[in-house]
Amino acid sequence: MARVVEALRANLGSDAVLAGPAVERVYECDAYTVEKRPPLCVVLPESTEQVQSVVRICRQHGVPYAARGAGTGLSGGATVAGVVLSTRRMNRILRIDAENRMAVVQPGATNLQVTRAAEPHGLFFAPDPSSQHVSTIGGNIAENAGGPHTLKYGVTANHVLEVEMVLPNGEVARLGSKVPEAPGLHPLALVVGSEGTLGVVTEATLRLLPKPQCVRTALAFFAEPRDAVRAVSEMIAIGVVPLALEFLDSTFMRVVSESFGLDFPPAARAFLLMEFDGTEESTAEELSAASDVCGRCGVVELQIARDEAERASLWYARKNAVGGLGRIAPSKVTHDGSIPRSKLPEALARIEEIAERQGVLVANLAHAGDGNLHPCMPLDDRDPEQVARMHRAADEIMRLCVEMGGSITGEHGVGLEKLPFMRLMFSADDLDFQRRLVQAFEGFELCNPGKLLPEAGA
Ligand SMILES: Cc1cc2nc3c(=O)[nH]c(=O)nc-3n(C[C@H](O)[C@H](O)[C@H](O)COP(=O)(O)OP(=O)(O)OC[C@H]3O[C@@H](n4cnc5c(N)ncnc54)[C@H](O)[C@@H]3O)c2cc1C
Repeated sequence: MARVVEALRANLGSDAVLAGPAVERVYECDAYTVEKRPPLCVVLPESTEQVQSVVRICRQHGVPYAARGAGTGLSGGATVAGVVLSTRRMNRILRIDAENRMAVVQPGATNLQVTRAAEPHGLFFAPDPSSQHVSTIGGNIAENAGGPHTLKYGVTANHVLEVEMVLPNGEVARLGSKVPEAPGLHPLALVVGSEGTLGVVTEATLRLLPKPQCVRTALAFFAEPRDAVRAVSEMIAIGVVPLALEFLDSTFMRVVSESFGLDFPPAARAFLLMEFDGTEESTAEELSAASDVCGRCGVVELQIARDEAERASLWYARKNAVGGLGRIAPSKVTHDGSIPRSKLPEALARIEEIAERQGVLVANLAHAGDGNLHPCMPLDDRDPEQVARMHRAADEIMRLCVEMGGSITGEHGVGLEKLPFMRLMFSADDLDFQRRLVQAFEGFELCNPGKLLPEAGA
């Protein structure tokens, strides 16, 4: 192991290779804190050539490696007992091509950095995970990240045109195309969402969209969570497609209220954050139609933002919700399953039953418009009994999502966390086919191994 670190230092310079107990502690996990694997070392390459050197040295010494952006992944994707290849120093926006509505960026640039760079040109980058101020484009691509605005604009896969990546054999490849409809098979589609198992993205060309003329935001409070989610499917059924439809339950409302001094209507036990974009007329019409639906579903109060400051204040509770759980426990597991949105009321009721049966607290938030649930379980991950209860509840929730015709992950990926659930969704043949696709990449054995696909026969 010392020889690997030595070789990496000789190639990248000693300040680009971090090792030691403090480094092990900081990089032993991502935001899925239940599984920890102290790394051998962390490398900070600055260029594609340096990434190639790291991959080649790891291959030479038979050491596993994983790319890491900001480490906000919620399924253990960047956790590796090997070399952590951090993209921290590859964080530049290389070019905004306003005419062709594209951004060329390095993988360590944050999601928000891209939108900020595009803003002066009247453009924005649509995928907006709630972690967007820190999570990186490399991580967003690897996880095919979604976000509140996925409902209208789609996930990361819909906004990546081309990537440059270092393949597991150390070669550099360019996948995708800056022009649409390039012929042939589309390996880029395989890479987006592959959780860093097919190589390390070193540059990405992203699609930018024109900023809408007008955005309207409203917060609807409900006495019953099921009424809030019923409003979601009714809205979409009548043809209103909001930019965002975010749901927060009473546990989240309590923790954000206590943490940040926010006041909510006393009768409210859930809220729905609704956002619409388009022209002045279209957004006014959509907001009015959505307000009518909320009225029919028993809304107790509707707050409508009158300007940008009020819009930010309506988003504040949603954006800070997960952090507020820190009041309850030192850690938490954020689950992520999707279901058809019409089944949200039933799903919330059944999750409540599961929580009671397993003796865990589940706080629910959801990108409700997409039927993407995030049941969060605050816990002390040093207590094996609490961890075991969380796993039992998670198992039931995942089975519920699949039984309802949904998925074991809407956007957080499989990583380590969801490996046991892949068999709920895929047959042995399906998994074998996926494994063979990964194995087509020479050198795959060391490139973020043990993620995404359960081992054959395991
Ligand atoms: C508070 C909070 C809110 C969140 N909200 C959302 C949300 O709304 N929507 C959503 O989708 N996710 C959300 N997430 C999850 C997470 O932020 C996303 O998955 C994000 O895309 C991860 O980016 P990252 O830079 O932190 O990646 P990391 O956690 O560092 O890595 C994630 C995966 O990407 C791989 N990877 C990283 N960089 C590269 C690269 N250059 N090349 C190849 N592979 C790479 C890693 O190996 C790993 O498998 C949230 C997380 C938190 C903590």
